Amino acid sequence: MEKKISRTQKRLTKRLQTIWKLGHRKEKTTHRYFIYRLVSFLVIHAFIAIVPLSGIMRFDFWGGNHMIWGEQAPLLEVARRFVIPFGVANILIVLVVRWSGRYLCGWVCPVNFMNRWADWLRGFLGAKNGRLGFKGHAMAAFTSIMFAGVFLLWFVDFRVFIQGSPRAILWSLVAWSFFALFSYVQMVALSWRTCERYCPSGVYFSILGVKTKTGIERNPNGTPCADCKLCITACPMDLDPRNLLGEAREVSGVYFDTLDNSALCIRCGDCVEACDRFFEPRKLPATLRMGVLQNTGSALPEPKAKKARKTKATSPSKVSQEKPESHEEGPEDPARSSAA
Ligand code: SF4
Ligand code: SF4
Repeated sequence: MEKKISRTQKRLTKRLQTIWKLGHRKEKTTHRYFIYRLVSFLVIHAFIAIVPLSGIMRFDFWGGNHMIWGEQAPLLEVARRFVIPFGVANILIVLVVRWSGRYLCGWVCPVNFMNRWADWLRGFLGAKNGRLGFKGHAMAAFTSIMFAGVFLLWFVDFRVFIQGSPRAILWSLVAWSFFALFSYVQMVALSWRTCERYCPSGVYFSILGVKTKTGIERNPNGTPCADCKLCITACPMDLDPRNLLGEAREVSGVYFDTLDNSALCIRCGDCVEACDRFFEPRKLPATLRMGVLQNTGSALPEPKAKKARKTKATSPSKVSQEKPESHEEGPEDPARSSAA
């Protein structure tokens, strides 16, 4: 067990170092996924803050001023009126995940943003072996407290900290600390392990998201795979993005063995970004793409190039000096041939 954890730590550290270096090369441009992710982050967090602040919905376990659609109402009435929008939102989620896969995990889930923020802190502070130093822990703790404060808005009116009894203040602080602790542990200790192994919502979405219409595949107009393996290193779910239809990843934690790689993929696009960055200096189109599937299948290199796969992953620092292997034709499609 201990060996497995340290392997994961090593892998996540390598992932972090790779994407950090790729994102900070001289010739780098702002990747489109960075912009999409930033917009998604702002929208989601604005939503989390605006709903309780505007009174669209909020519980107040201190003053009893529960709100729904801008009106004050008793607790049970708020819960009753929340049932329909909650049900509709869940039906939409089921339909979206069933059709498109786990984009919610890769682009909407706050845990995903916490992991990325902690990754950014590690990269920015030059954390050794992926471990945050004192500064990193302090910054992670501060952001955890802020995030927990926003989440607490859903459950208590913040005037409790001025007008509340000592007991009410104490309970509010306990709730705040609990949320902050959860967020802090997620950032500094669990990180992508939560998504990869332990998230019950992830299991639910994986079951729903088997054989979806979107995902990662070989770009029909892309450059044949140069086997640099940067996409594998960048993947937070420990998958080979070039062959999501291939042999299933060894699953651990609460996932089922029967889930295929495509269902485990959280559609985060990190592999596509890494591939884009690899080919960026040569102005060539990436091998991988994400979107509605055109059934182009696996992006693995041709068998004759397989020997090269045994070499170590290309160091991002060397990326700009290396040339991709030239393939006259697109790579063979083992997924299709095995299906046939
Ligand atoms: S295969 Fe690509 S999109 Fe899927 S989880 Fe891995 S990096 Fe993200
Ligand atoms: S060229 Fe692209 S698809 Fe091939 S190994 Fe490198 S990052 Fe992955």
